Amino acid sequence: MTFLLQHALRRKRSFVTALAVAALAAMHAPAALAQKVQAVQVAPQTWMVQGESALGSSANRNFISNAAFVVTDDGVVVVDALGSPALALELMAEIRRITPKPIKHLIITHYHADHIYGLQEFKAAGVQLIGQKDGQLYLHSETAELRLKASREEMFPWIDEKTHLVPADRWVSGTTTLRLGGLDFVLQAAGPAHTPEDLVVYVPQLKLLVAGDLVFRGRVPFVGQADSGSWIAALDRLLAFDTAVVVPGHGPVSMTAREDLQLTRDYLAYLRQTMGDAARDLEPFEEAYAKTDWSRFAKLPLFGVANRINAYNTYLLMEQSAK
Ligand SMILES: [Zn+2]
Repeated sequence: MTFLLQHALRRKRSFVTALAVAALAAMHAPAALAQKVQAVQVAPQTWMVQGESALGSSANRNFISNAAFVVTDDGVVVVDALGSPALALELMAEIRRITPKPIKHLIITHYHADHIYGLQEFKAAGVQLIGQKDGQLYLHSETAELRLKASREEMFPWIDEKTHLVPADRWVSGTTTLRLGGLDFVLQAAGPAHTPEDLVVYVPQLKLLVAGDLVFRGRVPFVGQADSGSWIAALDRLLAFDTAVVVPGHGPVSMTAREDLQLTRDYLAYLRQTMGDAARDLEPFEEAYAKTDWSRFAKLPLFGVANRINAYNTYLLMEQSAK
């Protein structure tokens, strides 16, 4: 999330973006006490750790995203590696507190800094890393290099010269099923949505979905530069799973899976419909924004800081596709 905002700011030095970034920064002043990496059971055989609702900083060790793990009879499957090597070690200690079984696989939901800077510790521990193949585009991009460079300054000493980017040991695409200890882990490529390499994990025996940043719980999502059209298509695919529990990439676990998926989907669709109409009619953004009825979403958390920039980004996107 941090990265998307900074990236947006670099790309479009628009007033609207700057405002949204400033508002976010003010909202997420560093907490007094660093949050502990603490595993909480959320479903049978399933635990998660929940990061702070904040931007990454040295005060919070970049602990701003979630990770999950499932303990099977034959070993542990982890989803996401957290935002710094130290956090990954704490996550492994939490797994050890719960089970002596070996950690077999780590699945990467996407290559955003707050989900991957812990990968090197899992790699060193001999865990097989699995990602969606388009993650390779990010690994070889200038963006990845610049992001790491900035993080070494912003999040020192948690991110330092020894922190590096780690490729997956196994790249997958489409749908891949991993079987371990009597459970199926359906790895479903879901991008391009939040990122090109989005990968979600569905365990049918547990009705569990680990959704990465595709699902935002009970709040307005940050759309950033994402293509909301394919994001909606991805959510439609997730709605096809019979899901009872969703572990999102940020925020608390959801026991109301369908409602959360549907809310994110409806919000994105509404942005596209209203801003799409405005862009096609050549109506200026400010006018279109002011006359749009936002009442259905206005009470959701983060509406104040996120909605305007989401609408603006969608307006630009729809303007592009109208040409
Ligand atoms: Zn992300």
